[in-house]
Amino acid sequence: MKRFIALFFITVIAFSPTLTLAQKGGFADMKQLQGPQNPRLGFVIHGGAGVITRGSLSPEREKEYRVKLEEALFAGYKALQSGKSGLDAVEIAIRILEDSPLFNAGKGAVFTNEGKNELDASIMNGKTLAAGAVAGLRQVKNPITLARAVMEKSAHVMMVGGGAEKFAKEQKIELVDEKYFWTQPRWDSLQKILKEEKAKEVQSLKSKVQSVLTKDLPANRFGTVGAVALDKNGDLAAGTSTGGMTNKRYGRVGDAPIIGAGTYANNNTCAISATGWGEYFIRLGVARDISAVMEYRGMPIQQAADFVIKDKLQKLGGDGGIIAVDKFGNIAISFNSEGMYRAYINAEGKAVVEIYK
Ligand code: ASP
Repeated sequence: MKRFIALFFITVIAFSPTLTLAQKGGFADMKQLQGPQNPRLGFVIHGGAGVITRGSLSPEREKEYRVKLEEALFAGYKALQSGKSGLDAVEIAIRILEDSPLFNAGKGAVFTNEGKNELDASIMNGKTLAAGAVAGLRQVKNPITLARAVMEKSAHVMMVGGGAEKFAKEQKIELVDEKYFWTQPRWDSLQKILKEEKAKEVQSLKSKVQSVLTKDLPANRFGTVGAVALDKNGDLAAGTSTGGMTNKRYGRVGDAPIIGAGTYANNNTCAISATGWGEYFIRLGVARDISAVMEYRGMPIQQAADFVIKDKLQKLGGDGGIIAVDKFGNIAISFNSEGMYRAYINAEGKAVVEIYK
């Protein structure tokens, strides 16, 4: 009981000034959140990778991103501290980011070539290797919650499109009108690309798709969200949610809902969530590859992540990054893009929010 009271006060003391600061919109990069009483917890989130250079965001915009990342980080981490599972923490944090128009997931999803929003997500349980994934959703407000339902309430790993939405209805998971996902900045991004595409009059379909994806890459694609967690029981979990890439076509599905590409968790190694140019992450099986390098070559997590992202992905011509936590609570972040929205609780128990290289 004494221990409980002490823990309660530590938590209250650690959180009160932090949350007040965040609510005021003021923040510092480092905040004390975790005492030595639970050194094994691990929590990292990301809000996408891409060309995010210092000066490319206005101070106000930057603050909005930081405040929202902090909110998601604290919510997920608090869940872990209270004894909830890594899966709960991952879902809680991702839902907050999905509900924000700042990120390319849920509310802020990018537009397809046809001017629609098609959402993908996945989640994985490192203890059981159970996984759930959804793709091509048009009406599910929080795709991560549907991915979890696929994992926990169905016999399948992946469901797509109308079928997945039928399952969502059955599971009483919130559906919204397609209009809910419409946002001006994402619409403008699509219009800009379509205009450029028209001007270029690219000939063959193949080169057209290729040029669009290439062009899209630096400026218009970032904001996928993800989270990885190590909970009090030593169980790992990972989840990722995205609107994909602006101007994507023909039922294109990226890496985010592909188990082993954009998301992977295994209690023997680590939990990973990726963001970047999905086609490359699928080809390399990035998330599973990092886990395999740890398992078969005994590489520590940061080295394994850098090997796959800064060596293999780089050589293949892809870009993006990952967040990871291993079974000991060590955290790794690796990306070969200009920036990556990310936030984590470091080894000293402090909250860190970072955007640039
Ligand atoms: N990986 C996502 C996709 O290719 C996009 C991103 O992470 O920005 O769908």
